[in-house]
Amino acid sequence: MNTSKSETLFKRAQQLLPGGVDSPVRAFKSVGGTPRFIREGKSSCFTDEDGNSFIDYCMSWGPLILGHADDSVVEAVRETALKGTSFGTPHRFEVELAEMVINAVPSIEKVRFVCSGTEAVMSAIRLARGFTGRDKIVKLDGCYHGHADFMLVAAGSGLATFGTPDSAGVTKGNAQDTLVVPYNDLDALAALLENEGQNIAAVILEPVPCNYGLILPAPGYLAGVRELCTKHNVLLIFDEVITGFRLGHGGAQEYFGVKPDLTTLGKIIGGGLPVGAYGGRNDIMSMISPEGPVYQAGTLSGNPLAMAAGIAMLKSTRSEGFYQSLKNKGEKFRSLISPLLEKYKGKILFDSIESIFCFYFTDQKKINTVNDVRRCDMKLFALFHGAMLNRGVYLSPSGYEVGFLSSAHSNEDIEKTASAVSDSLEEIM
Ligand SMILES: *Cc1c(COP(=O)(O)O)cnc(C)c1O
Repeated sequence: MNTSKSETLFKRAQQLLPGGVDSPVRAFKSVGGTPRFIREGKSSCFTDEDGNSFIDYCMSWGPLILGHADDSVVEAVRETALKGTSFGTPHRFEVELAEMVINAVPSIEKVRFVCSGTEAVMSAIRLARGFTGRDKIVKLDGCYHGHADFMLVAAGSGLATFGTPDSAGVTKGNAQDTLVVPYNDLDALAALLENEGQNIAAVILEPVPCNYGLILPAPGYLAGVRELCTKHNVLLIFDEVITGFRLGHGGAQEYFGVKPDLTTLGKIIGGGLPVGAYGGRNDIMSMISPEGPVYQAGTLSGNPLAMAAGIAMLKSTRSEGFYQSLKNKGEKFRSLISPLLEKYKGKILFDSIESIFCFYFTDQKKINTVNDVRRCDMKLFALFHGAMLNRGVYLSPSGYEVGFLSSAHSNEDIEKTASAVSDSLEEIM
């Protein structure tokens, strides 16, 4: 496969951008090789600068649930752009998208739009602190919530611990207000809330962690977390930046029937443009400026182009049968992949939920915690990634990332992918 144009661009980029990229995982560091500079995409596929085409399962890391350059989204952005790209005033599309989000997501009564998932989380945490008058936050080990200082925190030793900075530049002070407990462990959370509950503003988690492999909540886990938070008067924040409009129109909270107090959204609601949002109970959301004392603002927040893209996206996802059809694709994918893995029993696991999937190279029988993910063989994943790439299938370039199906993936795409999986495993195992 000729990659000379990507290589040349990457060399130039490395002189100009840290690591040659604007977001670290794009650099292919954990899989090796040259990141592909993508020139254009349509439906399930995209094409790099050298003209190589791939069936894409990264899908911009989640937003593109309709695939690349969906006609309705592109048309909405084009029409809107012709009339102006930003006004810094209220715009009717903010009202329209807010209505759609509030109608879709069970626990959201009021919503504020921002420009990224990180910003949504950062703002929701400030709001939780402002509302409760408490400083501490509980994070679940392995959940990713963007790059705000107090979220870049890792678990220290022991079960329930003060966090330690997970990035240079994060102060100990910031990290110390974040407490970390393992996911899928209600006892650890119960013990922490028993001891510290009166100092804790909120528990934040990904209802289905999708940023450290794919970890599914144990039966009853999310309901148990809800119960503990209610008991201790601690706010529960679901970070649905991935699961929102992905597991269904109402996200994980509808899927599992558990209502958080606040929800953060991103990725899909922007239709592929930069959007985040946070929303929840009216009494909490009313604390936000200018209604209340919690300050949060943004020059490009609620940007008309981004709102237009989001509206077009959600019009499609709320159409009759959308998620059933996506689920069917997920099941078809699983039904073709699973038998191929029989041959490598005890070496590979495949897990999925609806349109989200993950491959693990491991001898473990099931992945329940981040420690299980940590024991997976990421070197073998890197070989698998390269072998798939050579066969025209683009997986996210890290074994800690999940894959996404979109409504644009066809049966033929899925069959081609299954045969690439079969050949790739043959090559590397
Ligand atoms: C992607 C992601 C974020 C961060 O969103 P950005 O738009 O990248 O800032 C936060 N939380 C979760 C669960 C995510 O998957």
